Amino acid sequence: MNKTAQSVWNNCLEFIKDNIQPQAYKTWFEPIVAVKLTETALSIQVPSKFFYEWLEEHYVKILKVALTKELGETAKLVYIIKMENTYGNKQPFTEKIPSSNRTAVKAQDVDIPLNNKNPELKNPFIIPGIRNVKIESQLNPNYNFENFLEGDSNRLARNAGIAVANKPGGTSFNPLLIFGGVGLGKTHLAHAIGVDIKDKYPEKTVLYISAEKFTQQYIDSVKKNNRNDFIHFYQIIDVLIIDDVQFLSGKSGTQDVFFHIFNHLHQNGKQVILTSDKAPVDMQDIEQRLLSRFKWGLSAELQNPDFETRVSILKNKLYRDGVEMPEDIIDYVAKNIKTNVRELEGAIISLIAQSSFNKKEITINLAKDIVEKFVKNTKREVSIDYIQKVVSDYFQMDVDTLQSKTRKRHIVQARQLAMFFAKKFTKASLASIGSQIGKRDHATVLHACKTVDNLSSTDKQFRKYVEDLTKKLSL
Ligand code: ADP
Ligand code: MG
Repeated sequence: MNKTAQSVWNNCLEFIKDNIQPQAYKTWFEPIVAVKLTETALSIQVPSKFFYEWLEEHYVKILKVALTKELGETAKLVYIIKMENTYGNKQPFTEKIPSSNRTAVKAQDVDIPLNNKNPELKNPFIIPGIRNVKIESQLNPNYNFENFLEGDSNRLARNAGIAVANKPGGTSFNPLLIFGGVGLGKTHLAHAIGVDIKDKYPEKTVLYISAEKFTQQYIDSVKKNNRNDFIHFYQIIDVLIIDDVQFLSGKSGTQDVFFHIFNHLHQNGKQVILTSDKAPVDMQDIEQRLLSRFKWGLSAELQNPDFETRVSILKNKLYRDGVEMPEDIIDYVAKNIKTNVRELEGAIISLIAQSSFNKKEITINLAKDIVEKFVKNTKREVSIDYIQKVVSDYFQMDVDTLQSKTRKRHIVQARQLAMFFAKKFTKASLASIGSQIGKRDHATVLHACKTVDNLSSTDKQFRKYVEDLTKKLSL
């Protein structure tokens, strides 16, 4: 069978697809075009230098395995970096590298033919003499890259953000759409990109605005009959950052005007950065043509930070505030708040405040109280009351009997089982378990736990109790 670049690449893709996350596949492999095949080398075209670097850093192993399967041990991969030309010129800029080895490719800078036309601006949003007037960026300098800590959960989005900040409008990430759940850093990252651009390119007009405010401005402009001025104002911006675009859902007028602004900016090589609480595929009531624009660039997800990242975010926060905190407290907070960095920070701020205002020592118990207030949708924990009820039902006795002082063997066993499960399924201390199950002390609970452990490894009937009850309690 005759191999072509396409057929070889398709086989590689099939293999790769099976071995990586669908979202990663979509982001990093679907945009690649196979362009050339020699006996041992496959040339693929990638959309940018950043893209190439990302592939090299994260997928070189799997690429190697895939390609070796196709072309044998001597297989080589050649990258061709396509510079996306966003300036209306249809000729793609490409650069080839020698097919004999795979080395880093330096993408050349393209001369950007700037759009020099001065649009006629009659416009209440700007004072005449526009070129001398600074548009306030509305950026928050406290949200920068330096204090946006990197972790697996945000690596792609953060690095794409840096790439965009280095070359606004000049990467294939246009628009850059940052999406993810509440409190995961979308707004922070969006500001950080803007702040960095302002730093590197002070002459560029950068504007940060929430989709909500954008909508409000648009509605006002319609009321005041100056919709065109509104549009013109946005069309002269070099870097437009719109936060929470899901807010546009169902607002067709605003979507329509945004569509025109977006097209104008994009065609003129201006950078658009968007954030949303959902991936484009999951957005509701956003016009198709707008959704398809969102997908032109890169959609990068902010995921829940892993434990290490949560710890470093907390430590960084404490360090910046000049506060010391015991490691076990930091660990406790990081372990228990998993899905929202804002809550993570909120809990630590509360802890600091509590301890300094009330002169309380920061203890695990104080941390527990505060964390509980911050974690809203925690999984319902089985309560000790519930455990006692389930155990008594199982042995067909009532809870009072289970708690009584009697030494009858089957009642003692039930009580010990209740204590054992309370230890296993709740975070309560031995002392607290004891006091709730018939006012026993912590030593009694400890003894109960050991007894249950012993009996379940020596006594078959008893093991069955433990298994049955475990099932009932885990439902
Ligand atoms: P979102 O816009 O996604 O709801 P924000 O950008 O408002 O979230 O972030 C919530 C809080 O968490 C902010 O105070 C932000 O500084 C902080 N934060 C989020 N991610 C990080 C991170 N990776 N490093 C440091 N702080 C972070
Ligand atoms: Mg936000």
